[in-house]
Amino acid sequence: MPAPLAIVYHDEMLEHRPPGLEPEMRDYHSRKLRALLGELVISGPWKHPERPERLSSLVDHVRSLSDSRILWPDVPRADEAALARAHTSGHLRKLAELRGRTRMLSLDTTAVSPGSIDAAFRAAGAAMTVVDTVLEGAATSAFALVRPPGHHAHAANFRGFCLINNVAVAARHAQAVHGLERVLIIDWDVHHGDGTESIFQSDPSVLFFDLHRAAPYYPGTGAVENVGRGRGRGTTLNIPLPEDTSDLAALEAFDRILAPAARRFRPQLILVSAGFDGTREHLGCNYSRALFAHLTDRLQRLAEELCDRRLGFVLEGGYHVEPMRSSLDHCLRVLLDPDRPLPPTGTSRIGLPAVREATDTLRSLCPLLRESAGGAV
Ligand SMILES: [Zn+2]
Repeated sequence: MPAPLAIVYHDEMLEHRPPGLEPEMRDYHSRKLRALLGELVISGPWKHPERPERLSSLVDHVRSLSDSRILWPDVPRADEAALARAHTSGHLRKLAELRGRTRMLSLDTTAVSPGSIDAAFRAAGAAMTVVDTVLEGAATSAFALVRPPGHHAHAANFRGFCLINNVAVAARHAQAVHGLERVLIIDWDVHHGDGTESIFQSDPSVLFFDLHRAAPYYPGTGAVENVGRGRGRGTTLNIPLPEDTSDLAALEAFDRILAPAARRFRPQLILVSAGFDGTREHLGCNYSRALFAHLTDRLQRLAEELCDRRLGFVLEGGYHVEPMRSSLDHCLRVLLDPDRPLPPTGTSRIGLPAVREATDTLRSLCPLLRESAGGAV
């Protein structure tokens, strides 16, 4: 019998300590961070929001559950060959040059400390371990607790605290090593997964579904009309949401857009870019912590229906420790006990009109959502 859940984690990921307090960095860095993050308040002295406590608090919480059904697999670092499936050789060279150094990367607030590159290779390795664990049958579902996050990293660029696109490396690993033909990636982080979209926008073998706060919110991409390019046209599904969008809209997007598209696409694996920064403390959307139980429940059912229950999660954003921990807890409890009753969600209808508009637009642009289309595409 597979374990119901694997938690994929390694202490090396705490050694990524992007500068924020060092005197030579502080002015430049705080200005950029404040401009990008607006009024997001991080408790304690000002420091980089992508800090080790984000991850250590989650891991401590999972350990405190003392649940013997949770598997903790070994986590190797990714090697360059694995990263090259999602990144350019130039990007790999930049990573190699940054190993052991402290550096601000000029595109935005992304920065590295001496341990960052090894941490990033370990995070990508953790995402690949999620795939191995689920596809080899050691666990039904797996959750990689990682940092630095990945979904803003493009094939050739660092962006938005991200160095390596972990979920993209994992999807490519599933295809290259395990021979899968179709992978579904769901991104529920409040920020658009611009890096993931760009990596797969021309690739019909990866269906990318992204719920996010609409532009001009960071990173400013993810319009509903962007449905992919060339052969990949129609396999990118962007759902931009207004400020204060709440649970009902997210659930509606899952039911009206994600589920029918996934049934047509027939994924062999479902991966989730699981950011927990859609809660109200983060000032982007207004999700409740309980929403993550419902989203996980829906994905678990889809995975059971479509792909032999193969479901993997890779942590993305989330900068306030308590709501992150509570949201993760909701998610993990569903993975451990699929039949448990779900907690009540929020009842605000904010965001529902945007989801209905996106549904109409996507039905006109994406064969996966055309009601008159045949079964397979
Ligand atoms: Zn985010």
